Amino acid sequence: MARLLLRKISTMEPIASSSAIDFPQEFVKFLNEAHSPYHTVHVMKRQLLENGFKELQESKTWARSLHADGKYFVTRNNSSIIAFSVGGKFSPGNPIAIIGGHTDSPTLRVKPISKRTNEKYSQVGVECYGGGIWHSWFDSDLSVAGRVFVKTADGGSEAKLVDLKRPLLKIPTLAIHLDREVNQKFEFNKETQLLPVSGMADLDLSDKKKAVDDEPFSSLKSIVQRHNEDFLDLIAQKLDLKSVSEIEDFELILYDFAASTLGGVRDEFVFSGRLDNLTSCFTGLHGLLLSSDESLAAETGIRLLACFDHEEVGSSSAQGADSNFLPNIIERLSSAVSYTTTDDKLKGKNFLLETYAKSFFLSSDVAHAVHPNYAGKHESQHKPVIGAGPVIKINANQRYMTNSPGLVLLKKVADSANVPLQLFVAANNSPCGSTIGPILASKTGIRTLDIGNPILSMHSIRETGGSADLKYQIDLFKEFLKQYSVLSEKINV
Ligand SMILES: [Zn+2]
Repeated sequence: MARLLLRKISTMEPIASSSAIDFPQEFVKFLNEAHSPYHTVHVMKRQLLENGFKELQESKTWARSLHADGKYFVTRNNSSIIAFSVGGKFSPGNPIAIIGGHTDSPTLRVKPISKRTNEKYSQVGVECYGGGIWHSWFDSDLSVAGRVFVKTADGGSEAKLVDLKRPLLKIPTLAIHLDREVNQKFEFNKETQLLPVSGMADLDLSDKKKAVDDEPFSSLKSIVQRHNEDFLDLIAQKLDLKSVSEIEDFELILYDFAASTLGGVRDEFVFSGRLDNLTSCFTGLHGLLLSSDESLAAETGIRLLACFDHEEVGSSSAQGADSNFLPNIIERLSSAVSYTTTDDKLKGKNFLLETYAKSFFLSSDVAHAVHPNYAGKHESQHKPVIGAGPVIKINANQRYMTNSPGLVLLKKVADSANVPLQLFVAANNSPCGSTIGPILASKTGIRTLDIGNPILSMHSIRETGGSADLKYQIDLFKEFLKQYSVLSEKINV
C-alpha cells in the first residue's frame, strides 16, 4: 500500500566510479574551500546538487516532494546537513543505513566586541572554540572565514559566506631571548596571550572616526564601534558592499592560511587543519554519491549521511547531534506516506519505531594513529597506523558504541569491499575521547559503531592524515550503504 503512494521517478545521473576519482587531490581541494562549517555545508550542497540531489526545507511539507528512488538533502543553520537517497522499493518502517560525522573543528572565533589596541598594535579579540592544541596556533599565518548578515534593499537581512583568504592575523610567540625556558615549558594565558595582532593602529584616527553621536538609537553598539574598522572594510570589499554600515553582524572564525596539501616522500600524508572531522564529511559524501547509482532502484531502505555542527563543544545545540535534527528527519522519512493518507498518527509512530529498531549508524570520526615518538601512549596491541585503513573504536565504558554485532556486520561489509580495518582501544591509564555515536545511540536506540581514519596531532592547527585511507573509507561507506538493508536481516542478535 505504502509503496504505491511513493511515486517512482528516475533521478539517476551518471556518477564516476570510485576508481576514476583521485580522492587525495579531491580532499585537498575540499579542505582548501571548507574553512568554516558554513563553507563545508556549502561545498557539500554544491556537490549533492551536481549529482542530482534535491534540496528540501524543514519548514515546508515534504508530502509531495519525497519519491522512491529519489535523492535529497536538508540543512539546518547552514552548518549541519543531512543527505539521503530513498530506495526504489522503500516502504515506511524499513531500515536506514546512516553515516554520521561533524562539520566543526576547534578554532578561534572573533568575539562580539573584538576591537583591541595595545602598544599601537591593533588586535582582534577571539574566543576559544572546542579543545584545540592552542600552542600550535602561535606563529601561524591566520585568515578569517564565516558568515555575515548584510542589509538587503527591502529592509531585511541575508546571510552571505565570506572568506577573506589573506594572511591577516598572527599570534606571535615571544622571542627566545625574552623567555629562555620556552623549550622546557611553554605556558600562556588564553585570554591575554592568545590574542592575534591584525596590524598597526592608525596613529591619527581623527579623519576616520565615525560620527557615532549622530546615529539613530540602536539597542547594541554599532558594528563599527565593536570591531576594528580596517577589518570590517575588508569584509565589505569582499562582499561588494557600499559601506561597512551594511554589515549587521557575523560569525567569523580563524583558520590557518597555509593551504592544505599532500606531503611525505610518497605523498602518503595529508597535511591540513580540520582533518577532524572533514575527513568523515568528505568520505561520507563520496560514499553516499557513489552508492546512489543504479542499485538504488532495487533498494528497500534509505541511505543517509548526517554531518552536524558543534561536536567539538558537546553537540548540545539546535543543529548539533544532540538536537532533534536527525530524529525529525527520520520521523519524516519513516512516516512520510502516512501523512499523505488518512492513516492516524499512531500508525506513523509505529513506522518510526520499526525504522529505529532496524537501522544502523556508523559514527565516523578520526582516530588516534600511533605516534612514532610517543608510541608508549597507545595500548600495546592496539596501535593503528596511517595508511592501513579505517579504525574501529571500542570502549568498554561506552565512550564508543561498537559492540560485537556491529563488528560482525562491518567485517562482512569490509570483506566484500576489500578494505582493511584496524582496531583501537584506549589504554587503561589513558583518557579516552568520545564521538556523536553515544549521543545519537542513546537518543534513538539505533545500533551504532564508531569508526574513523587514523590521524596524528588531533586538534592541532595542522594535523597529519593518510592519503590511502581516504579511498578505503569511501569504499567501506559505499559498500555499507549499498549492502546494509540485505545484511541486516542476516545478523541475529
Ligand atoms: Zn572529531
